[in-house]
Amino acid sequence: DDDDTWVIRTLRQHEPAAVHTQLPVVWHRASGNRVFDRRGRSWLDWTSGILTANAGHSPDSVVNAVISQARQGLLHAYMFPTAVRARVVRSLAELTGFPQSVLFTTGAEAVEAAIKISRSRASAHGRDRAVVVTFDGAFHGRTLGAQLAGGLPAQRYWLPDCDEAFLRVPYPVEGSRWDSGVLDHALEQAGVSAEDVACVLAELYQGSSLRKMEPTAARNLREWCDRHDALLVFDEVQSGFGRTGSLFAYERTGVRPDLLLCGKGISGSLPVSAVLVADTACTEHLRPGELTNTHGGNPVSLAAVEANLALFADGRLVEAAACRGAQLAEGLAQWAARSPGREVVGAHGMVAGVAFRSPDGTFGREQARLLVAECAQRGLLLCAPAGLDGTMVKIMPPLTTTEADLGEGLARFGVAADAVQH
Ligand code: PMP
Repeated sequence: DDDDTWVIRTLRQHEPAAVHTQLPVVWHRASGNRVFDRRGRSWLDWTSGILTANAGHSPDSVVNAVISQARQGLLHAYMFPTAVRARVVRSLAELTGFPQSVLFTTGAEAVEAAIKISRSRASAHGRDRAVVVTFDGAFHGRTLGAQLAGGLPAQRYWLPDCDEAFLRVPYPVEGSRWDSGVLDHALEQAGVSAEDVACVLAELYQGSSLRKMEPTAARNLREWCDRHDALLVFDEVQSGFGRTGSLFAYERTGVRPDLLLCGKGISGSLPVSAVLVADTACTEHLRPGELTNTHGGNPVSLAAVEANLALFADGRLVEAAACRGAQLAEGLAQWAARSPGREVVGAHGMVAGVAFRSPDGTFGREQARLLVAECAQRGLLLCAPAGLDGTMVKIMPPLTTTEADLGEGLARFGVAADAVQH
């Protein structure tokens, strides 16, 4: 196929290799839970466009909202008020119960803004230091501040080893006996007093490993933050908008964060992220203009958010995600039981990870890579292997995937896995 070959060759020529372009599917069109190439070949999508198309690809209502907003004019975003922005911040408040939101374009920007809000609040409260507590294995995006907050060694090789503004502590993995003593101990070792902490920033499950946070740890962190006047920030850029079978993953912990970070599934593939604010006191010390940026609140993107939020309003999509998530977990458990060396490394609603264990006990990178390739050949689209060492294949279908399509996907996945192992 000349055209697809041209696309790939040209991207390779004019983009650095550090821009990750996964072969072999050249996206031409995406609809529902399917992706199509230029010739009309289709793949069942198990990527949700990197967890953006939670409500399926290109729902009619979202596409129509984008078109009609664009026809109104490609308006500037943040400096002047627009009606669509007013409707979106009101809808976010109604849907989530967080009274304020600040709109950005990428998840990493929302992370940076949360760091800024927390640090400036600490400073307004008369603190000399303002440390951000984060967790080993965390992923918060690829801008500088977000990478410093992240806990992945490979991401940090060119950054100072020990930036005193960030302190990484062990992640409270589900089942571990984590309590805030772990945090106190880490602070003591680093010579940081609890009063110096501006915020604790955490994922409810870690996108890099699919390790889930112990629910009691969420409560511990809440109490700890309240005791020390620190903000609790949950990064739900990945886990939000139904992915885990509740609108947000934090709902299952019974703990409400002070700042809730959203991105990806908030708009269904347009560049929008948001910091949702639980209490207006969190932001009142910042001066006008300090949280704005040129493209945040772009009206065309916000038209997509408005229509997308409407798809979540009656709760049915989230209920479906919980049902399909159970089907996915069951299907993968059966898959793993059929042959030795297969492991499900995490499953939270409509996101799961699998890996192949070698006889020496380690997970295989090459097998993971082959699995993705074998699936693509069979009309099932997955992302390149993820995980801390590239051994985990992540499965994340749109929440709108039907029972039949999920069954079909599992069948193709099973055949592809057999081909990898034999
Ligand atoms: N936080 C989390 C938990 C994420 O998973 C991601 C993206 N994978 C980000 C932040 C960064 O989002 P973006 O790529 O839009 O900057």
